[in-house]
This record gives sequence, C-alpha cells and structure tokens, in this order.
Amino acid sequence: MEHKDEVLEIMESKGVNRRDFIKYCTLVTSVLGLAPTMIPRVAQAVTAKERPTVIWLQFAECTGCSEALLRTTYPWVDDLVLEVLNIAYHETIMAPSGEAAEKSLHDAMEKYKGKYILLCEGGIPMKDGGIYGKVGGKTMLDIAKAATKDALATVCIGTCACYGGVQAAKPNPTQAVSVAKATGAKTINIAGCPPNAINIVATVVHYLLLGKLPATDKEGRPLFAYGKLIHDDCPRRSHYENKEYVKKFGDEGAKKGWCLAEVGCKGPNTHNNCARVLFNDGTNWPVGAGHPCIGCSEPDFWDTQAPFYEAI
Ligand code: SF4
Ligand code: SF4
Repeated sequence: MEHKDEVLEIMESKGVNRRDFIKYCTLVTSVLGLAPTMIPRVAQAVTAKERPTVIWLQFAECTGCSEALLRTTYPWVDDLVLEVLNIAYHETIMAPSGEAAEKSLHDAMEKYKGKYILLCEGGIPMKDGGIYGKVGGKTMLDIAKAATKDALATVCIGTCACYGGVQAAKPNPTQAVSVAKATGAKTINIAGCPPNAINIVATVVHYLLLGKLPATDKEGRPLFAYGKLIHDDCPRRSHYENKEYVKKFGDEGAKKGWCLAEVGCKGPNTHNNCARVLFNDGTNWPVGAGHPCIGCSEPDFWDTQAPFYEAI
C-alpha cells in the first residue's frame, strides 16, 4: 500500500473521511495564497513518505500555542500533524517524563543533527545567566542555544517565542527575550497569542511542498499570513470610513456591528490574517464577535498596544 493511502486509512480509522481531508487541504491551500489547482499537491505533500523530523521545545510560556494546534476544532488535525511530521520530542504529548524525557531530547538532537526542524514555544529568561527558566537542571537559554545550533530551521510558535511575550512585558523581571535574541538564530515567527493553528500547519506544508520556509516580513513573520493589516480585511471597515464607532460595549453601535476603534481596536496596527481565515473551523474571529483586536501578533504587544480598551 502506498504511504499516502496508509495515511488516509489511518485518518479514516479515526473517523476522518476523504472529503473532510480534502476540505482541510483546500483551506491550507487558500491560506498559503495558492491557486485551487494546487490542492492535490498540498494533499500529496501532507501525505508524503519523507517526513521532516521535528523537535518541539517549550520555554517560558503557557502551552496555549500547543493547545491551539492540538485542540483545534478539526479534532483530527493533531493526528494529521503527528502522521505528517516525525515529532521526535514534544514535552506535552510525548510519553516519557523525567530523565527518560531528557534522554529523548538528547538522542533526537544527536540522531537528527543538522536535519531537524526546531519548533519553539516561549520566551527565554536571560537574567543571572538564565537561571529563572530551567528544565531538567539546564537553563532554557542553554537548551535553546544547543537546539538552534544544530537545527535545519527554527520556527517560533507564538508571540512569546517570537518576541518574548507576556513574561517580557514591563518590568520584565527575568529579562525574557525572543528565541532569536537569546540564541542569535534566524527564526520564522508564527506570531499570535496564540497563533492560528492553520498558520502553523501552512508553514509546515509550505516547507513540504517547496522544500523551503516561506518569505517573511522584517519581523520574521510569513508574508502569506502576516502580509496585511487586520484593518485591511475587516468587515467593519466601511463603518470606520463612515466614522460609525462603537462608543461603549453593548451600545447601539455595537448592536449594529460598527467599528471598534474607539473601544480600543488595534487592527490598524496589526499584521495578521484572522479576518480572512477566522478561528474555530471558520466560525468567527475576535472582531467579528465584537471584541477589539489587541494586536497580539505584534512585537511587544503587551506594552506597545496597551491599554487594550483605549483608542490608539
Ligand atoms: S474594528 Fe478594528 S480592524 Fe475593524 S475597521 Fe474598526 S479599527 Fe479597523
Ligand atoms: S484579532 Fe488581533 S488580537 Fe485577535 S487573534 Fe487576531 S491579531 Fe490577535
């Protein structure tokens, strides 16, 4: 049996029919900005036999980014990702713990030296030699330096790994920074708090399809997802142009779906594809549900985009 059929068979055994699988591939294709004619190639890429090895490390963070991927409303995407990628180490989902987990990481880094894709979640505490963030007796700083050094590519998942995140917000007591700043490695930044799972999958699919990581903006974010402002795609934009603003949550303007700029929306400052891709199986997105964008995919947004409920 061909590997592709094997993967589809595994998916089917988990209750995923081929139609759902193709629907998901269609979504990934559109997120990447590719023509619909590429859908079969995307489907082929995610079921290819040659699977890239992934080491997924978690530093100072809340694990929300892993959860966003693993608890997506496509409940089988985690299975798909686990079938598509050869995940050699992931603290949240792997079976070993304690010393066995340490050994797994060491063995994976040795075995796949220079060949693994490193996915990182979380910022890196730097103060006092990094002692405020440790795993298995080693500082996150040392773990990150060693892991990025031998990685084929480093992809940061979420604003903490990309730019330091909430622990780097003022007064930043542990002097937390991004993975790139801590290690000097070049990173692809899938920003967001958490990032949309589809952007993580699409970045991996881009690599599988074209053998390289996607082009990025100056903040390291893939252009296919972060090339435009939230404001550019917002369905409330005509109200912004007409100066029709929500003044208070629950007022008449809110009921009419007017612009949220005056209750703090940072859409005009924020690069992301939330308005196009939506969350929860395409159900809705924060601004669609009446909450202002707080700029979660921008560097240092906890400081630079606050206060969240005041106009820019
Ligand atoms: S709600 Fe936000 S993103 Fe939408 S038009 Fe108003 S300011 Fe722009
Ligand atoms: S709408 Fe804004 S705050 Fe909300 S997820 Fe998108 S970028 Fe982040």
